[in-house]
Amino acid sequence: MLGGGQLGQMFCHAAKRAGYRTHVFCPTDGEPATQVCDEKTLAAYDDLEAVERFAQSVSVVTYEFENVPAATAEACAKHCPVRPGQHVLRVAQDRIREKTFLSEHGIPVGPFAKVQSLDGLKDAVKQIGMPAVLKTAGGGYDGKGQRVLHSGDDAELVYAWEDLGRQPCVLEGFIDFEQEVSIVAARGTAESGGGVVCYGPIANSHRNHILDVSVVPSGARAEVEQRAIEIATQVMTALEVVGVLCVEFFQTRSGEMLVNELAPRPHNSGHLTIDAYTASQFDQQVRCVTGQPPLPVELRQPAAMVNLLGDLWPTPKGDGTQADPDWSAVRGQPSLHLHLYGKHQARPGRKMGHLTALARTPHEAIRDAVEARAKLAPAAPLDRD
Ligand code: AMP
Repeated sequence: MLGGGQLGQMFCHAAKRAGYRTHVFCPTDGEPATQVCDEKTLAAYDDLEAVERFAQSVSVVTYEFENVPAATAEACAKHCPVRPGQHVLRVAQDRIREKTFLSEHGIPVGPFAKVQSLDGLKDAVKQIGMPAVLKTAGGGYDGKGQRVLHSGDDAELVYAWEDLGRQPCVLEGFIDFEQEVSIVAARGTAESGGGVVCYGPIANSHRNHILDVSVVPSGARAEVEQRAIEIATQVMTALEVVGVLCVEFFQTRSGEMLVNELAPRPHNSGHLTIDAYTASQFDQQVRCVTGQPPLPVELRQPAAMVNLLGDLWPTPKGDGTQADPDWSAVRGQPSLHLHLYGKHQARPGRKMGHLTALARTPHEAIRDAVEARAKLAPAAPLDRD
């Protein structure tokens, strides 16, 4: 596993359950995945000697973040399969390549234009119109590296271009969506049949650009849901993904499903699969990257997941120690499932854990999860600065 975060940690849990040994490669000790793996290599991703030694010691490499440097993936691929493959990373790491790949394969995306310069941005604005969203081609996550443009006048364009660091971007038409949904999909190797299994659509809402609440079923009409599943399956097949990939969509008011972006790994919105489905996104990642077909899955019950950010943790005491939230709010409720990632320090906006509620209906699940989380909020929250 390249990467030490919570996605890597939950992968290691699933791998262990299936009887595998795990080896995590990440730069620093104490990260969530290093707490639960069998072996760890602590080195920088660009330390290619360490990367090669790591790859020589394992049977297959996967990852939990898409910004794995190309040289790191290449160094691994000299010694064992990297799943999903480097071609998937290449597409998913760059919004220009991603949008171009999708549209060339007839997969619906919103209007977009490549931007390589300030003059190019001015041309793109003429093509796309206002409002629009300017996004850096590489490196963005959780809403970083993007600016919404309203007027399109020169001052606004110069500011956005400078603010994003004068780098290749895409300009996207602003989509007046009804909701955002994701499909987490798993696909096995060709030898294992190349079958695709999908979770969702899962409906997602964000706060401060960070995922806040995910719920399944999404509430979309059956044919709209089916369309999203078909598109996700098409993406998995076209990209020959081996492993797990999340397709994020805008569901428009007319019931279209436009692909916003791809994440070639399990996804935060798929965390509810751990408690709500017969097998989780991490179980599927383990199966697919080890050459087995994904399991068919069933939703046991409607479910909602809320992220638990560092903002829920109380301010550290004078000696620097930090108490936990008062977990009594979530104790004694069999339909609530608390997951903590073992991060040592809470910071505002940092994903510390999540809480999944299972209920009779999606609305009840949202209510239960959101109410339980509200009870965790501290009297003295962390300072946002
Ligand atoms: P992204 O990093 O592309 O997932 O964008 C982060 C969030 O910004 C999305 O989840 C949307 O809420 C919003 N957003 C991004 N692109 C657009 C768009 N073209 N139109 C409307 N909202 C957008």
